[in-house]
Amino acid sequence: MDLPVYLRRTQRPLPEIRARTREIYDAVLKQSPWIKDGNFAALHSRDLEFLFAAYDKTFFEGTLNSSLTGLRAPLTFRVSKRMTRVGGTTTRFRPRFGFSNKTTFEIAVSSTLLFATFYDVNRPIRVTGIECHDRLEALQRVFEHELIHLTEMMVFDDSSCSQRRFQQLAFQFFAHTEATHQLITPGERAVSKYGIRPGDKVRFRVEGTEYVGFVNRVTKRATVLVEDPNSPLYSDGRRYAKFYVPLAMLEPTG
Ligand SMILES: [Zn+2]
Repeated sequence: MDLPVYLRRTQRPLPEIRARTREIYDAVLKQSPWIKDGNFAALHSRDLEFLFAAYDKTFFEGTLNSSLTGLRAPLTFRVSKRMTRVGGTTTRFRPRFGFSNKTTFEIAVSSTLLFATFYDVNRPIRVTGIECHDRLEALQRVFEHELIHLTEMMVFDDSSCSQRRFQQLAFQFFAHTEATHQLITPGERAVSKYGIRPGDKVRFRVEGTEYVGFVNRVTKRATVLVEDPNSPLYSDGRRYAKFYVPLAMLEPTG
Protein backbone atom coordinates (compact mmCIF):
# COMPACT_ATOMS: atom_id res chain seq x y z
CA MET A 1 0.00 0.00 0.00
CA ASP A 2 1.27 3.49 -0.64
CA LEU A 3 1.01 6.47 1.67
CA PRO A 4 -1.77 8.43 -0.11
CA VAL A 5 -4.00 5.35 0.04
CA TYR A 6 -2.96 4.57 3.59
CA LEU A 7 -4.04 8.06 4.70
CA ARG A 8 -7.64 7.12 3.93
CA ARG A 9 -7.68 4.41 6.56
CA THR A 10 -10.22 4.86 9.32
CA GLN A 11 -9.14 6.20 12.66
CA ARG A 12 -7.91 3.75 15.27
CA PRO A 13 -9.84 3.76 18.54
CA LEU A 14 -8.28 6.06 21.12
CA PRO A 15 -7.20 3.25 23.52
CA GLU A 16 -5.34 1.62 20.62
CA ILE A 17 -3.55 4.87 19.75
CA ARG A 18 -2.55 5.22 23.41
CA ALA A 19 -1.35 1.61 23.62
CA ARG A 20 0.71 1.92 20.45
CA THR A 21 2.39 5.16 21.52
CA ARG A 22 3.11 3.58 24.92
CA GLU A 23 4.77 0.62 23.18
CA ILE A 24 7.05 3.07 21.41
CA TYR A 25 7.74 4.84 24.72
CA ASP A 26 8.82 1.55 26.31
CA ALA A 27 10.88 0.54 23.28
CA VAL A 28 12.82 3.83 23.36
CA LEU A 29 13.64 3.38 27.06
CA LYS A 30 14.77 -0.15 26.40
CA GLN A 31 17.08 0.44 23.47
CA SER A 32 18.37 4.03 23.68
CA PRO A 33 21.85 4.56 25.12
CA TRP A 34 20.84 8.20 25.86
CA ILE A 35 17.21 8.08 26.96
CA LYS A 36 17.32 6.09 30.16
CA ASP A 37 14.41 7.71 31.89
CA GLY A 38 11.12 9.44 31.06
CA ASN A 39 12.86 12.66 32.10
CA PHE A 40 16.01 11.97 30.15
CA ALA A 41 18.99 14.29 30.36
CA ALA A 42 20.49 13.59 26.94
CA LEU A 43 18.99 13.27 23.48
CA HIS A 44 20.74 12.10 20.32
CA SER A 45 19.70 12.35 16.69
CA ARG A 46 19.81 8.52 16.68
CA ASP A 47 16.89 8.60 19.10
CA LEU A 48 14.91 10.53 16.49
CA GLU A 49 15.96 7.99 13.87
CA PHE A 50 14.69 5.22 16.13
CA LEU A 51 11.41 7.06 16.72
CA PHE A 52 10.92 7.43 13.00
CA ALA A 53 11.36 3.72 12.35
CA ALA A 54 9.10 2.81 15.27
CA TYR A 55 6.32 5.20 14.21
CA ASP A 56 6.57 4.21 10.57
CA LYS A 57 6.14 0.56 11.51
CA THR A 58 3.52 1.01 14.23
CA PHE A 59 1.36 3.75 12.72
CA PHE A 60 2.05 3.84 8.98
CA GLU A 61 2.81 0.23 8.03
CA GLY A 62 6.11 1.31 6.54
CA THR A 63 4.52 3.68 4.03
CA LEU A 64 6.55 6.69 5.21
CA ASN A 65 9.80 4.98 4.41
CA SER A 66 8.54 3.63 1.10
CA SER A 67 7.40 7.15 0.12
CA LEU A 68 10.86 8.52 0.88
CA THR A 69 12.36 5.73 -1.18
CA GLY A 70 9.93 6.46 -4.01
CA LEU A 71 10.93 10.13 -3.96
CA ARG A 72 14.57 9.11 -3.57
CA ALA A 73 14.68 11.65 -0.77
CA PRO A 74 16.84 10.97 2.26
CA LEU A 75 15.51 11.99 5.68
CA THR A 76 17.92 13.23 8.33
CA PHE A 77 17.43 14.08 11.99
CA ARG A 78 18.81 16.83 14.18
CA VAL A 79 18.65 17.76 17.83
CA SER A 80 18.70 21.55 18.10
CA LYS A 81 19.84 23.56 21.09
CA ARG A 82 19.06 26.80 19.30
CA MET A 83 15.33 26.43 18.83
CA THR A 84 13.98 28.33 21.81
CA ARG A 85 10.35 28.69 20.69
CA VAL A 86 9.31 25.89 18.36
CA GLY A 87 9.31 22.32 19.60
CA GLY A 88 10.25 20.83 16.25
CA THR A 89 10.59 21.57 12.55
CA THR A 90 10.28 19.59 9.35
CA THR A 91 12.14 21.01 6.39
CA ARG A 92 12.39 20.05 2.76
CA PHE A 93 15.55 21.09 0.97
CA ARG A 94 15.27 21.45 -2.78
CA PRO A 95 18.45 22.62 -4.44
CA ARG A 96 17.61 25.22 -7.05
CA PHE A 97 20.85 25.16 -8.99
CA GLY A 98 23.17 22.61 -10.46
CA PHE A 99 22.56 19.22 -12.01
CA SER A 100 21.36 17.53 -8.88
CA ASN A 101 17.71 17.95 -8.08
CA LYS A 102 17.87 15.75 -5.07
CA THR A 103 15.28 16.58 -2.44
CA THR A 104 16.10 15.92 1.18
CA PHE A 105 14.02 16.16 4.34
CA GLU A 106 15.07 16.99 7.86
CA ILE A 107 13.23 16.66 11.15
CA ALA A 108 14.69 18.71 14.00
CA VAL A 109 13.62 18.72 17.64
CA SER A 110 14.43 21.35 20.26
CA SER A 111 16.35 19.86 23.18
CA THR A 112 16.37 23.26 24.87
CA LEU A 113 12.60 23.25 25.30
CA LEU A 114 12.46 19.62 26.37
CA PHE A 115 15.19 20.08 28.98
CA ALA A 116 13.62 23.29 30.31
CA THR A 117 10.35 21.39 30.80
CA PHE A 118 9.81 19.02 33.74
CA TYR A 119 12.75 20.75 35.37
CA ASP A 120 12.20 23.60 37.81
CA VAL A 121 8.98 25.23 36.64
CA ASN A 122 5.93 23.20 37.60
CA ARG A 123 2.69 23.49 35.70
CA PRO A 124 0.68 21.09 33.56
CA ILE A 125 2.25 20.62 30.13
CA ARG A 126 0.10 19.97 27.12
CA VAL A 127 1.62 19.27 23.74
CA THR A 128 -0.68 18.96 20.70
CA GLY A 129 -3.60 19.11 23.14
CA ILE A 130 -2.48 16.04 25.10
CA GLU A 131 -1.25 16.27 28.67
CA CYS A 132 2.35 15.05 29.00
CA HIS A 133 3.88 13.69 32.17
CA ASP A 134 7.55 13.63 31.24
CA ARG A 135 10.02 14.65 28.55
CA LEU A 136 9.73 11.44 26.58
CA GLU A 137 5.97 11.85 26.24
CA ALA A 138 6.49 15.47 25.17
CA LEU A 139 9.13 14.38 22.65
CA GLN A 140 6.73 11.81 21.20
CA ARG A 141 3.96 14.40 20.76
CA VAL A 142 6.35 16.84 19.08
CA PHE A 143 7.69 14.07 16.85
CA GLU A 144 4.19 12.89 15.88
CA HIS A 145 3.34 16.46 14.88
CA GLU A 146 6.43 16.58 12.66
CA LEU A 147 5.54 13.22 11.09
CA ILE A 148 2.26 14.72 9.90
CA HIS A 149 4.20 17.63 8.38
CA LEU A 150 6.47 15.14 6.61
CA THR A 151 3.47 13.15 5.41
CA GLU A 152 1.80 16.24 3.97
CA MET A 153 4.99 17.42 2.28
CA MET A 154 5.44 14.05 0.60
CA VAL A 155 1.83 13.51 -0.43
CA PHE A 156 0.45 17.02 -1.01
CA ASP A 157 3.70 18.95 -1.49
CA ASP A 158 2.72 21.66 0.97
CA SER A 159 2.06 21.45 4.70
CA SER A 160 0.59 23.79 7.27
CA CYS A 161 -0.50 22.91 10.78
CA SER A 162 -2.91 25.83 10.89
CA GLN A 163 -4.92 24.19 8.11
CA ARG A 164 -7.80 21.81 8.40
CA ARG A 165 -6.21 18.97 6.43
CA PHE A 166 -3.24 18.82 8.79
CA GLN A 167 -5.44 18.93 11.84
CA GLN A 168 -7.63 16.13 10.52
CA LEU A 169 -4.64 13.90 9.84
CA ALA A 170 -3.07 14.69 13.22
CA PHE A 171 -6.33 13.76 14.90
CA GLN A 172 -6.86 10.67 12.79
CA PHE A 173 -3.41 9.22 13.43
CA PHE A 174 -2.52 10.50 16.90
CA ALA A 175 -5.68 12.02 18.42
CA HIS A 176 -3.99 15.43 18.53
CA THR A 177 -6.52 18.17 19.19
CA GLU A 178 -4.14 21.14 18.95
CA ALA A 179 -1.19 22.10 16.79
CA THR A 180 0.73 23.85 19.55
CA HIS A 181 2.98 23.00 22.46
CA GLN A 182 3.10 24.42 25.98
CA LEU A 183 6.68 23.44 26.68
CA ILE A 184 8.55 25.81 28.95
CA THR A 185 10.50 28.35 26.91
CA PRO A 186 13.62 30.01 28.29
CA GLY A 187 11.60 33.25 28.34
CA GLU A 188 8.92 31.77 30.56
CA ARG A 189 11.51 30.19 32.83
CA ALA A 190 13.26 33.54 33.23
CA VAL A 191 10.00 35.12 34.37
CA SER A 192 8.84 32.36 36.67
CA LYS A 193 12.16 31.46 38.24
CA TYR A 194 14.05 34.75 38.22
CA GLY A 195 11.27 37.30 37.73
CA ILE A 196 13.10 38.72 34.72
CA ARG A 197 11.34 40.03 31.62
CA PRO A 198 12.58 41.87 28.54
CA GLY A 199 12.67 45.59 29.33
CA ASP A 200 13.57 45.07 33.00
CA LYS A 201 16.37 47.10 34.52
CA VAL A 202 19.05 44.82 35.97
CA ARG A 203 22.42 44.88 37.71
CA PHE A 204 25.22 42.34 37.31
CA ARG A 205 28.94 42.01 37.95
CA VAL A 206 31.66 40.93 35.57
CA GLU A 207 35.17 40.51 36.96
CA GLY A 208 34.54 42.81 39.88
CA THR A 209 32.89 45.61 37.90
CA GLU A 210 29.23 46.33 38.37
CA TYR A 211 27.06 47.13 35.36
CA VAL A 212 23.51 48.39 35.14
CA GLY A 213 21.46 47.93 32.00
CA PHE A 214 18.21 46.55 30.71
CA VAL A 215 17.21 43.16 29.42
CA ASN A 216 16.76 43.22 25.68
CA ARG A 217 16.12 39.56 24.99
CA VAL A 218 15.99 36.28 26.87
CA THR A 219 17.08 33.02 25.32
CA LYS A 220 19.19 30.66 27.37
CA ARG A 221 20.99 33.73 28.67
CA ALA A 222 19.78 37.28 28.82
CA THR A 223 21.00 39.89 26.40
CA VAL A 224 21.60 42.99 28.52
CA LEU A 225 22.28 46.40 27.00
CA VAL A 226 24.45 48.74 29.04
CA GLU A 227 24.90 52.37 28.00
CA ASP A 228 28.43 52.93 26.78
CA PRO A 229 29.72 55.91 24.73
CA ASN A 230 32.19 53.71 22.80
CA SER A 231 29.64 51.16 21.62
CA PRO A 232 27.37 50.96 18.56
CA LEU A 233 24.42 53.30 18.14
CA TYR A 234 20.96 51.80 18.59
CA SER A 235 17.65 52.95 17.09
CA ASP A 236 16.70 54.79 20.28
CA GLY A 237 19.65 57.15 19.66
CA ARG A 238 21.82 55.77 22.45
CA ARG A 239 24.97 53.66 22.43
CA TYR A 240 25.01 50.33 24.17
CA ALA A 241 27.44 47.57 24.95
CA LYS A 242 25.85 44.16 24.73
CA PHE A 243 26.37 41.49 27.39
CA TYR A 244 25.20 37.88 27.40
CA VAL A 245 24.55 37.14 31.04
CA PRO A 246 23.38 33.92 32.73
CA LEU A 247 19.98 34.59 34.28
CA ALA A 248 21.16 33.62 37.77
CA MET A 249 23.70 36.47 37.67
CA LEU A 250 21.11 39.19 37.11
CA GLU A 251 19.70 41.23 39.92
CA PRO A 252 16.54 43.19 39.10
CA THR A 253 16.78 46.86 40.18
CA GLY A 254 13.67 48.89 40.92
ZN1 LIG B 1 3.52 22.49 12.83
